[in-house]
Amino acid sequence: MSDPSTSRLNLLGLPGPQLQAFVEGLGNKPFRARQLMSWMYKRGEGSFEAMTDLARDFRAQLGEMAEIRTPQIVTTRSSADGTRKWVLRADAAQAFEMVFIPEDDRGTLCISSQVGCALDCSFCSTAQQGFNRNLSTAEIVGQVWLACRELEKVGQTPYAAGQRAVTNVVLMGMGEPLANFRNVVPALRIFMDDNAFDLSRRSRPPASSRRSTSWRRRSTARSPFRCTRPTTRCATSWCRSTASTRLRSCSRPAGTTSTNRTAAASPSST
Ligand code: SF4
Repeated sequence: MSDPSTSRLNLLGLPGPQLQAFVEGLGNKPFRARQLMSWMYKRGEGSFEAMTDLARDFRAQLGEMAEIRTPQIVTTRSSADGTRKWVLRADAAQAFEMVFIPEDDRGTLCISSQVGCALDCSFCSTAQQGFNRNLSTAEIVGQVWLACRELEKVGQTPYAAGQRAVTNVVLMGMGEPLANFRNVVPALRIFMDDNAFDLSRRSRPPASSRRSTSWRRRSTARSPFRCTRPTTRCATSWCRSTASTRLRSCSRPAGTTSTNRTAAASPSST
């Protein structure tokens, strides 16, 4: 992927309307944005040059002004049952994790919404690390994009023809997703966009610790978190369930603490 220091616009994580505005701003028809989304998310293409049904001039414009930039992988670990864990670089000194858990009929990707966490759940090692920063929408969406690509590379078999290896996404990695509401909501919209990942409503629940009443109020506002309105997209599940504890415990590489995970992200360790 491209150099993070570049000033080009990262299209990953740009919701449909903003992507369309960007495409139209370059003098192109709105349907080009849908084509672009389909290439990026459905086909997992990271090179504009390879998007062969886009006009050559449009591809050149994209190459000059935009990029598709994902988080960088620091380490990958896998186990015999197909579970894979990635430590991803947030910046020179910080890292976060995502975990893929295959089952007979589905593949669940557990992604992070923050680097560290300000809450203090007693069972959680992330709590010991404290809060570092919120992940951007691009970093949240980039985890799913990256996992799909990496799983394809290692030949992870989809569960049905035309299906991705990742069929379910849960925000049960590092962080409290409702504390990063501003960036998580656009990411959820991209997960469910027909032109993007097109995940079903039940396949992408965020998780919340339920520690704060203000976050609870937000979870009942008109947003993808809400599950009672027709516009809602997904159910909210709670971190403190047995299932999430199990996910969280398997998201931590054996013998690794939050401190040495951070160290693992430093350039010298890669
Ligand atoms: S369980 Fe979730 S909300 Fe609680 S400290 Fe860990 S990451 Fe934060």
